[in-house]
Amino acid sequence: MNDVPRGGIISDEVARRVLAAIKDKATEVILPLSHVGELQFGRCPRCKALKHREDFCDCQLSERFLNDPIIKSVIDVMFSQFKKGVDEYGKPLSACGDNEYDWRLMIIEEMVDVMKYQAMEIRRLERLLNP
Ligand SMILES: [Zn+2]
Repeated sequence: MNDVPRGGIISDEVARRVLAAIKDKATEVILPLSHVGELQFGRCPRCKALKHREDFCDCQLSERFLNDPIIKSVIDVMFSQFKKGVDEYGKPLSACGDNEYDWRLMIIEEMVDVMKYQAMEIRRLERLLNP
C-alpha cells in the first residue's frame, strides 16, 4: 500500500464517503479505488481522529515526539539552560522586559560563539583523522 497517495486531492465520491463515516463515527472506512487499490481509513482508539491507516493522528505524533531520544536530549539541554539562566539572572528569559537587553546584539554574540565552537570541533576532528 506504499503507492497509495496521501494528503492529495480526493474525488467527490471519496470525500462524501469519508465525511459520512466521520458523521457516523465509524471506526474504519475502506474505499476501493481502481487506480490505487484501496484507501483504508481508521479511527484512532484514543482521540477518535479518522485518518489514513498509515498516517499518525496528533495524539500518536505527540506520543512519538515525547518518546523520541533526540527530542528528549534536546529538551534536557533546554532545561539545563533554563536552570542556568534562572540561577544567573534570578528569573527566566520570558520574565525579561522587551528592552531589558539588546536582543539583536545578543543574537550576534551567540552566533559568533556557535562559529567558534564549530571551528574548535572541526579542528578536533581533523586532529583525530590526521594524528
Ligand atoms: Zn489519536
